[in-house]
Amino acid sequence: MSYIFLNNKIIKDSEAKISIHDRALQFSDGIYEVILLNSGNFIDLDAHIERLFSSLAMLKIKLSFNKEELIAKIINYQKKIKEHNNALYIQITRGSAKRVQTLDIASEANIIMYFLDNKSLDKQDILNGFSAITHDDIRWKKCEIKSTSILANLLCKDKANELSACEAILIEDNHVTEGSFSNIFIIDKNNKLITRPIDDGRILPGITRARILKLAQQNNINIDIRKYSKAELFAAKEVFASSSTMLIRPIIKIDEQIIGSGKTGDITKKLISLYQDFLDKS
Ligand code: PMP
Repeated sequence: MSYIFLNNKIIKDSEAKISIHDRALQFSDGIYEVILLNSGNFIDLDAHIERLFSSLAMLKIKLSFNKEELIAKIINYQKKIKEHNNALYIQITRGSAKRVQTLDIASEANIIMYFLDNKSLDKQDILNGFSAITHDDIRWKKCEIKSTSILANLLCKDKANELSACEAILIEDNHVTEGSFSNIFIIDKNNKLITRPIDDGRILPGITRARILKLAQQNNINIDIRKYSKAELFAAKEVFASSSTMLIRPIIKIDEQIIGSGKTGDITKKLISLYQDFLDKS
């Protein structure tokens, strides 16, 4: 049995109730976050809360509490339930309201939190690398919002699952956007770390992505933030996916084609090690 947080109450999940008129049921009218914990410490908590408030603002969902108060609720919830897993799921919906086709309704947001069991993989299994597929980016054009409306992402990921691949790399106009549930980086033959910019709404501004870029910068890894093509993806020396739950996942095969040497490359290895150091110090 697990204890979840619902609108300031910590209750058994079996006892948690939400109205059938909740806007998330009607329109996927809600947003979410998944925050990693390492030894009980939240990783990049402030950045997640910033992004959560930015998603809320883009959807005009108003809360009766601010960022600091939300952080206090999170910490309080964690303390109260003592035993918890290593990732926190937060969902905020616009709340319960009539099924009217406007965002301008008076409703009280519902806030739900619970811990997820994010299985951490064996270090060697990670270094052995993963395969991915490419897939048309069939999503909408507001990917910077961490909306619960992610059925398109799920369809892409399902295709990857069917083919025993770990991720679907999404392609739009012959260019990589991101993964179905991750950001995608490549390393070119000049050892440049390349990832797509976040300013055109085509990708989620990943918290892990931002952290990796910071670590790369601090460690003299050359960075190029720009659009890159599907051809560049296949010609890359190294490719990896990043997210709060996958962390850094080397991709050594895409659509059955070997990438680079077919082994996790040196820069990916270095970033995995830098990211682990960062987690250990957090
Ligand atoms: N892009 C998409 C579409 C995602 O779902 C995720 C995972 N939340 C990411 C990127 C990675 O974001 P983060 O590093 O903040 O987990």
